[in-house]
Amino acid sequence: MSDAINLGPYKRSMDDDSVVYIEHHEGSAMELGYLCMGLAGETGELVDVFKKAVRNGHDDFPRDLRNLTPEILNEMGDVMWYFFQLLRFMDVELEDILDMNMAKLQRRHKAGTIADLRRK
Ligand SMILES: [Mg+2]
Repeated sequence: MSDAINLGPYKRSMDDDSVVYIEHHEGSAMELGYLCMGLAGETGELVDVFKKAVRNGHDDFPRDLRNLTPEILNEMGDVMWYFFQLLRFMDVELEDILDMNMAKLQRRHKAGTIADLRRK
């Protein structure tokens, strides 16, 4: 995973005029609901690809999963689109979430919570 990602082009592409529904409901609960449903829907599509890989590739699972990489990446991209739209809606930067999450994981690690879960 790259440490330096230029998110500028991706964020600018999200301002595309083709997102009519968002434009008509910008800043409203309707927009938030639309984005949450979109994120859940695309996450479901991603999980469905994995489900089918498990179901159909039982005998040679890792190889079958690699064959599905383009489809998996496509669905991960769809999930990312809704995730970044939620960042825009909330006026939050990705770095802020990553910092918060890292701090939470470090607190859990220090408290032994993660280690305790592994022993159970
Ligand atoms: Mg999709």
